[in-house]
Amino acid sequence: MFDQNSFSLAGKVALITGGAHGLGQFYSIALSEYGADIFVVSASQRGWDETKEKVEANGQQVAFLQQDITDPDAADAIVQAVIEKFGHLDILVNNAGIQLRNDVLEFKDEDWRKVIDVNLNGLYYLSHAAAKVMSDQQHGKIINIGSMQSYRAGKRIFPYAASKHAVMGLTKAYADALAPYHIQVNGLAPGYISTDMTKPLQEDPVRGPEIAAHIPSGDWGKPEQLMGPMVFLASAASDYVTGVMLPVDGGYLLR
Ligand code: NDP
Repeated sequence: MFDQNSFSLAGKVALITGGAHGLGQFYSIALSEYGADIFVVSASQRGWDETKEKVEANGQQVAFLQQDITDPDAADAIVQAVIEKFGHLDILVNNAGIQLRNDVLEFKDEDWRKVIDVNLNGLYYLSHAAAKVMSDQQHGKIINIGSMQSYRAGKRIFPYAASKHAVMGLTKAYADALAPYHIQVNGLAPGYISTDMTKPLQEDPVRGPEIAAHIPSGDWGKPEQLMGPMVFLASAASDYVTGVMLPVDGGYLLR
């Protein structure tokens, strides 16, 4: 049976890491627009007031927990906080991520560890905790945020590239392992999107124009253009899609 309700998220609960700021805020708004209640976990309260206002304007409930996701002991407690607040967890969006940039020979081990800790370890801890609850429920959606760096090699952000390649591998393996529990695990790989994180690139006199020239339309993406693909991956419309990393890149990877 397929109709408009296939995209509805009414009665669903989504946990979104970093869901109050940057692209995460757009995911919170998108999923609440289609009827999901939202639970945000973030390192700081950046963007929280605005996100709360926008999700509530969509008629949905929203809750916030300030917590560093790199703490391996925090993941079960985060998932339990969602269950206590809303009773179930249907969608996990692993969006929190950081990027540190330097020349390869200057890169510090501690910076490597910081990137891997947030982008890969934190994502894994929460996926593991959510999978335990979702497998009992016999349904769930896990959506991991990748990047063009899941496919390509940014030489000044190589820990970021390593982490985002690993996110793709984890997405596939988890999709296979969790399919018997009717849990779909997919990734969404934003292309070059105009945000704070990409400001240095946009303003780089060499790389900025180079990137625009590589995108078939010549346009950097807008955060709003990720909202439809996010709703699709979170909804019943994608129930037979699992283990993919969906590039939302204006065709960047075609070249
Ligand atoms: P932002 O820096 O704007 O947002 C990242 C969010 O993650 C923030 O809310 C931040 O919290 C949170 N966060 C970071 N570290 C932790 C932590 N240890 N524990 C809990 N929360 C944490 O980044 P973007 O919105 O630009 O990026 C979001 C995701 O999209 C990332 O995974 C990024 O790699 C990916 N991406 C972004 C692209 C872009 O063009 N911007 C392109 C491709 C992928 P706080 O605000 O408190 O720091």
